[in-house]
Amino acid sequence: MDSVYFREEHNLLRDQVRRFVETEIKPQGDAWERDGMVPRQILRKMGELGYFGLRFPEKYGGSGMDVFAMIVLAEELGRSTYGGVSVTVMVHSAMSSPHLVHAGTEAQIAKYLPGIISGETICAIAVSEPDAGSDVAGMRTRAVRDGDDWVLNGAKMFISNGYYGDLYFVAAKTDPQAKGSRGISMFIVERGTPGFKIGLKLEKFGIHCSDTAELFFEDCRVPAKNMLGAENRGFYAVMQNFQNERLSIGAMATSESAKALEMTIEHVRGRAAFGGALIDKQGIRQRLAMSQCKLLAARQLLYHAAWLDSQGKDCVAEVSMAKAHCAEVTQEVMYNCQQFHGGMGYIRESAIERMVRDARLHAIGGGATEVMLEEVAKRWH
Ligand SMILES: Cc1cc2nc3c(=O)[nH]c(=O)nc-3n(C[C@H](O)[C@H](O)[C@H](O)COP(=O)(O)OP(=O)(O)OC[C@H]3O[C@@H](n4cnc5c(N)ncnc54)[C@H](O)[C@@H]3O)c2cc1C
Repeated sequence: MDSVYFREEHNLLRDQVRRFVETEIKPQGDAWERDGMVPRQILRKMGELGYFGLRFPEKYGGSGMDVFAMIVLAEELGRSTYGGVSVTVMVHSAMSSPHLVHAGTEAQIAKYLPGIISGETICAIAVSEPDAGSDVAGMRTRAVRDGDDWVLNGAKMFISNGYYGDLYFVAAKTDPQAKGSRGISMFIVERGTPGFKIGLKLEKFGIHCSDTAELFFEDCRVPAKNMLGAENRGFYAVMQNFQNERLSIGAMATSESAKALEMTIEHVRGRAAFGGALIDKQGIRQRLAMSQCKLLAARQLLYHAAWLDSQGKDCVAEVSMAKAHCAEVTQEVMYNCQQFHGGMGYIRESAIERMVRDARLHAIGGGATEVMLEEVAKRWH
């Protein structure tokens, strides 16, 4: 890709992931959608190829690459047409496991990171609750110190990789008297910890091969050494990693819709109506050209926000704008793509139908569009 943002190492990675998507994901994606999961064997292969350690320091077994490597991974998975695969992988590699490296002690990192990088240990991030999603500070899950343990009680909702995951980064209130976002801490909770129960595997509108679950904590004892980062600073850790999360969602969204647009252009070229190809209808052609234009603009905003982040700048507003804009443009582009596929775009298991459903999540998950826009407006002086 010709771009000021991507260097040779990114382009090599892109080629490699693209080949992986063609040979390992696309031929099996339909079966995974039916099974409601991405097989472990595939995740381990991705681990072997280094995709889960792209941004982690080399001293910990990662590749030490920058934010654009994460964007390449999200974009190429997005092109697979299986949004559930992208979510499974990006939740593990960009939304959950970075918490360990950002806030973990050397002992925590040494214990958990090798398995995370190899794909043996799949991670989830558990912040949302039945009564608190957008309003993170409103969470009710409590952790109370008791001797050498913290005792967790509460419930989490909509947790990706929640059903089949191994390691959970869980946010809980440790100081319920503290105002607003203060008083939240993060904990590392292993699957199988007594008192930690995995509830329903939730049936969803889209991303069927990504497992999503409810989680319950009932007097769940977590050793004090599994607190991640400083006590009562968990909200800031969550906020810090929101940048990664939002950039990766923007990248998934725009690449999924760019792929849908390519497929639609091909479709209208081949489909005849009223004595000519659909592409000869100016109304269709121009709407698709405008989709392409809006997608290019959204991507450039995303890359700009990622670049600001890579320079260590305060860019919460720009990242929020990028997430909101990429997600909303994606909705519009997906609508057009489905529209110009006609009836086939409405038929279950046509790729476009699946892609439209999968992409709907981008405007809701990881901070809904309206919440992103509040992040922008909050920073007006
Ligand atoms: C498939 C899926 C996977 C998910 N994965 C995870 C995960 O792995 N980990 C995790 O912690 N969470 C996860 N989530 C949760 C997700 O982040 C939340 O659903 C999202 O943040 C919205 O929260 P909510 O559902 O509670 O909606 P609410 O907070 O109830 O908001 C409902 C709607 O109201 C609007 N709204 C909210 N606040 C405002 C405002 N201030 N101004 C204007 N409008 C507003 C928005 O349109 C929003 O969609 C996942 C969700 C889904 C659907």
